[in-house]
Amino acid sequence: MAVQQRRNSKTRKAKRRTHFKLQAPALVKCPGCGEYKLSHRACPNCGHK
Ligand SMILES: [Zn+2]
Repeated sequence: MAVQQRRNSKTRKAKRRTHFKLQAPALVKCPGCGEYKLSHRACPNCGHK
């Protein structure tokens, strides 16, 4: 296993984490019942595709 040679600076860590963010779930309104559901998923409320 590789051994870390030196501690990453705060700046370096922050730069790496710019790509690391939570992505909001893609919610769309169900055409069947109007509830919010995940896009490209069957509606958990009414089963509309
Ligand atoms: Zn629905």
